[in-house]
Order: sequence, then C-alpha cells, then structure tokens
Amino acid sequence: MKKRTSIPKITKVRSELQKEIESTCPFCGNMDVGHFQIHHIDENPSNHDMQNLLLVCPVCHSKINKGDILPQEVVYKKLNLNNKGYKVKFISVSVDEGKCGWRPIKNVQNAFEAVKLQSLFPIFNFSFINNSPDTILFTSVKIKTKKLPNGLAGPDFPLPNILRPSITYKIKMPKNGEITETKLVEELEVPATRAFKFQVELFDESMERFKPPFNKYVLSFEFGFNNDFYLEVPKILLNSKEDCDKLPHYGLA
Ligand SMILES: [Zn+2]
Repeated sequence: MKKRTSIPKITKVRSELQKEIESTCPFCGNMDVGHFQIHHIDENPSNHDMQNLLLVCPVCHSKINKGDILPQEVVYKKLNLNNKGYKVKFISVSVDEGKCGWRPIKNVQNAFEAVKLQSLFPIFNFSFINNSPDTILFTSVKIKTKKLPNGLAGPDFPLPNILRPSITYKIKMPKNGEITETKLVEELEVPATRAFKFQVELFDESMERFKPPFNKYVLSFEFGFNNDFYLEVPKILLNSKEDCDKLPHYGLA
C-alpha cells in the first residue's frame, strides 16, 4: 500500500486542474459540482505530478475506484484534455465495417473485435480537426504493436482453420514491440479549422503464417504533422477489452 501524502500548493494545483476540465466533470459532464475530487491517475497517492492528477466529481471518482470507469479511460481523458491546446485534435477512431470484418466492442472505448475471416486486419478511420489558424501537413504515421496473452479478457473465438488471402493493406503491421514509422507518399494538406479523416489499412506480409484475426493486440498510433510534431491518439484494443499493463499474470483474480 503506497503512503498518501498531502499535495503541496494545493490551492494553486486545484485551480489549475479546475481550469483544465473547464469546471465540468470530464466523465459525466456535470457542471454543478460542489467539490471536485482529485484523482491520482496511477493510483499512487503520493505522485502529485500535474500529469498524474485529474479533477472529477465524487460520483465518477467512486466509479473509477470501483473500476466502473477503466484506468485506461482515465488516462485517455487526461491525454485528450492535454491535447486541447494542440494544433490538431483527435476526435475519434472507428473501423470501416463495410470494408472489413471488424466491429466495435460494446461499452469499451476504442476496442474492436474480428467477426469475419475475410479481413485479416481492421481498416481504421481516424478523425481529426485542425484547430490552428494555419494549413497543416499530415506527414506520417507511427505504429507500435503489443501482442496480448490469449487468456486476457476479451471475446473468445475458436481459431479459424483456413485464412483467406485478403485485400492489400497500406501499412505494414509492426511486429510485437516494434515501432514503425511510415512517411506518407502524398502528404495531406489540411486547411485551418477543418476536420479531416484518415484511413489506415494494415497488412502483414506473412499472410499464411499469420494466425489471427483473432489474436489480441494493443496498437499505439502517433500521427505526424508538418514533419515536426506528433499527436498520440488513445490506444486501440483488438479482440480485447483491456490492456495487460496492470495485469502481471493474466487469469489471476
Ligand atoms: Zn462525474
């Protein structure tokens, strides 16, 4: 059990955090909150780094503590609040259900599951908005892959015996733990204050040896702009409802 210490300069910290959430609970949207509570994102009550603190209403705080709001959702929320001032803001990620055999997993943010064999990998649609007063160039995509143990919570499918060859994907799926960066051949120009969508199609060159689409993965995407800044978007879960970072041994209660 980690020791709880009091937060230095609490008044200043609190007022900065309150500004960050614009006096609105970031989870339920409640603006009529008498006293926001300070949540320690990494659950270490003595880590008072601003990046580790988030103000929430008491109701949502207890949901976080009970696990009804997942730790991951809290991390994403903080990330998105931080990204507010950025030139580019991430809006959403979805799978192109018409083009690939994947669909969202219910009630889990940014998690998708394979439902058909036709598509080996999902085809993602990312939406962004250019918040700046300038035209920006969308220049690259960085991807990191983490394969999750099969016992991790997620939909259970029988592994298919036959995989059909599939359409050609545009970006090669990095191997477990690897990071790849793909420079866009044609950089995308995005006018000021305009929303834009980008589709990422993943592929793997060893189609026959590759045994998914039912394996579980965490994908991290970073999008590069103007060749000088990156926007990290919330992690994407494939065939899993949770990341295993906090689970040293899956299957243990
Ligand atoms: Zn709330």
